[in-house]
Amino acid sequence: MANVLIIGAGGVGGVVTHKCAQVPEVFERITLASRTLEKCDAIASQIDRPIRTEQVDADNVPELAALIREIKPDLVVNVALPYQDLHIMDACLETKTDYLDTANYEPPDEAKFCYKWQWDYQERFREAGVMALLGSGFDPGVTNVFCAHAAKEHFDEIHYVDIMDCNAGDHGHPFATNFNPEINIREITQRGKYFESGDWVETDPLSVHKTFDFPGIGPREMYLMYHEEMESLTKHIPHIKRMRFWMTFGQEYLTHLRVLENVGMTRIDPVVFEGHEIVPLKFLKALLPEPSSLGENYSGKTCIGCMIEGVKDGQPRKYYVYNICDHAQAYKEVKAQAISYTTGVPAMIGAMLMVTGVWRGEGVFNMEQFDPSPFMEKLNIHGLPWTEKFL
Ligand code: NDP
Repeated sequence: MANVLIIGAGGVGGVVTHKCAQVPEVFERITLASRTLEKCDAIASQIDRPIRTEQVDADNVPELAALIREIKPDLVVNVALPYQDLHIMDACLETKTDYLDTANYEPPDEAKFCYKWQWDYQERFREAGVMALLGSGFDPGVTNVFCAHAAKEHFDEIHYVDIMDCNAGDHGHPFATNFNPEINIREITQRGKYFESGDWVETDPLSVHKTFDFPGIGPREMYLMYHEEMESLTKHIPHIKRMRFWMTFGQEYLTHLRVLENVGMTRIDPVVFEGHEIVPLKFLKALLPEPSSLGENYSGKTCIGCMIEGVKDGQPRKYYVYNICDHAQAYKEVKAQAISYTTGVPAMIGAMLMVTGVWRGEGVFNMEQFDPSPFMEKLNIHGLPWTEKFL
């Protein structure tokens, strides 16, 4: 039975803690540590199993390594922010502890969304005999597993993948982001990019869009964006010809975003204001609702899945695999909205497969490098059932 240390007491951290607590036969001891102890305590108080809570600055490697030495976890689950990834990986290396996260490292002063820095840890993790599992959320995460499942069960060659992420929920705020506002806005305002015939093709931000009829939701406008799982998937799917990522946005959201961008509020470089340096996007984050606070009155559903085309037994095949998640139901179960839920559940499942030895390796891994079947099975059991269709 495992001892797990979860870092980050935000929307996703709350879900991971609840979901690990629901599986006492695997997660015997759970510690939740974050920058603000009260947030850890607030989550722990929602759960009727003892959860140890700790204050930690995950950017301070010696402080974090000392905490890991004291707790001796089998695994560190990083659901703080992408800025912390390398520091937490350093502390894991120092203490020879396994590592899992849900988002790739981001330098605080540039928007990059690439795995380069974390893949550079491959040799060090291998030599230390420990494992790092990258991107065990929904997208990245389940979308990678969906592709691996399609490759294993339904295709001889995969040629085209469209990952489509729809949130048709209503949180009642004119503008809010469903996960950390800094990361979310960085992701959406960067240039679009997709993979075609061995190359990356760039597009102006949110300039390419089309309508898709999402199951359980109906037609929504979705916009082409770059998303990090495409970097590893295009590397690991051998015959891939084109891969794109699409996300839906409402007009109200896009109008707010355009205004914020036009006035400079989404900038990530520091500006001097009344003698102080401030980063406009960090200031904007301070004004926006916390993602973890959105759950209570959130209604509607999310639908995230992969449309895949390729060949099986010499015949062309088109296949769609997706999950639908309901905001209100997620709140009822774990006091979180569906975006945190769809990220936190796969983080718990990834953790479960690691600590039980089902997914094992030494080095740094992306999700699609492991057998997808146990993960697909656990999605159905732990709150994210999936549907597949041949079209
Ligand atoms: P939140 O902003 O709600 O939570 C982040 C938490 O990390 C906060 O509790 C914050 O503390 C804590 N934190 C920040 N810096 C530090 C630090 N230096 N030391 C310790 N704790 C720190 O974000 P979310 O919960 O929405 O997102 C968590 C992660 O999940 C992000 O990396 C996000 O990108 C990722 N994600 C992945 C998705 C996927 O599908 N793969 C989808 C959605 C999110 P404090 O409260 O004090 O600020």
